[in-house]
Amino acid sequence: MKDLRDFLKADLVVEEEVDPEYEISAMLHENPRKTILFQRVKGSKLPVVGNLVTSRERMCEALGTTKENYIHHVTRAALRCEGEFSLVDNAPVYERRCSSLEELPILKHFEKDAGRYITSGVVIAKDEEHGRNASVHRMLVLDGHRLAIRLVERHLHEYYKKAEARGEALEVAIVIGMHPALLFASSYSFGINQDELCLASALLGEPIELAKCKTVDLEIPANAEIVIEGRILPHERVDEGPFTDITGTYDIVRKQPVVEVTGIYHRRDAIYHALLPSSVEHRLLMGMPQEPRIFTSIAKVARVKNVVLTPGGCNWLHGVVAIEKRGEEDAKKAILAAFEGHPSMKHVVVVDDDIDIFSGEEVEFAIATRFQGDRDLVMLRGVRGSSLDPSAGKTGLTTKLGFDATKPLNNLEAYEKARIPKK
Ligand code: MN
Repeated sequence: MKDLRDFLKADLVVEEEVDPEYEISAMLHENPRKTILFQRVKGSKLPVVGNLVTSRERMCEALGTTKENYIHHVTRAALRCEGEFSLVDNAPVYERRCSSLEELPILKHFEKDAGRYITSGVVIAKDEEHGRNASVHRMLVLDGHRLAIRLVERHLHEYYKKAEARGEALEVAIVIGMHPALLFASSYSFGINQDELCLASALLGEPIELAKCKTVDLEIPANAEIVIEGRILPHERVDEGPFTDITGTYDIVRKQPVVEVTGIYHRRDAIYHALLPSSVEHRLLMGMPQEPRIFTSIAKVARVKNVVLTPGGCNWLHGVVAIEKRGEEDAKKAILAAFEGHPSMKHVVVVDDDIDIFSGEEVEFAIATRFQGDRDLVMLRGVRGSSLDPSAGKTGLTTKLGFDATKPLNNLEAYEKARIPKK
């Protein structure tokens, strides 16, 4: 079964000792397109890899597709995935045990971050009604055996609230260091009854091998690098944040639940995956899984060809949509459907399918030559948007703009691209 090591191609190997506080994050920040392996990390025996995914192309490679076919590929995988797992004994991830979080090379990334944060941890949990869930959460190290976990109000939060209402802790396994397809699947917007690990199996083209946890009643991918087992305690909250999020600005301090660690295990020669907040890798992992959902939403109202959340918009706030326009209102319908498919999106540009949506220059060309502000702009005031956009203010309300940069169907001749005849 594919693991982190199958995917890892280091562009740079750092042999001298580096500090997990700021030094590693600074190098990753300065070299966003380079996968860097840090062999000696101060205070830990484990090496660190960062910028594992350095481009959209590399992410697509991890998922077994190309950027042109990505949305169809993932949508198909999500439809065909069914639970089929094998359980293995003697899983590599359980080769060694360590006694404290202090032994792991967990980074402090930015100046005003609250402390050392685990950012690549996939949290696996179970619920009687909804089954297994896998999702990515940031976790702040409180001491050698406790973490604060940020639970946004999605599936794991729901599992936790149910356990808490019964007065019980929620068992979790925090898995670090896997093939990027597993991180991607864990970031995908599935229904609450769907198992993200099934999607990972479908994307990898083989059923994931699982291993039984040692201290909690859960199963995890057997060839992960590291696992932290524990329980999210009921009725306990601590300060979590500030933390640098995808926009590269600080997220606020909130009261969040606490994980009490019950066991830490790793492969004999484990590699710790550091995911730098606001990096190319972080943005792609958050943004790309939203694109199929936006596509599906637009497909209900127009003939959509492709969708992308652009790097300049942090792969989160800005979208570009290519459509095959058949009715004059198609682009405006696509704008509203795009906002519905991804409520965090603030600005969206709709173009004809002769524009390469992966090229910022071509999209700007479409705005320059096919868009008129008084005719083609859609403005939505005071609607719910992303909490990560500092300009949206404390109310959580924002103004959204949609740019119809498609050619008017009744005047296509004016837009004909001049050709040079072959001699
Ligand atoms: Mn889920």
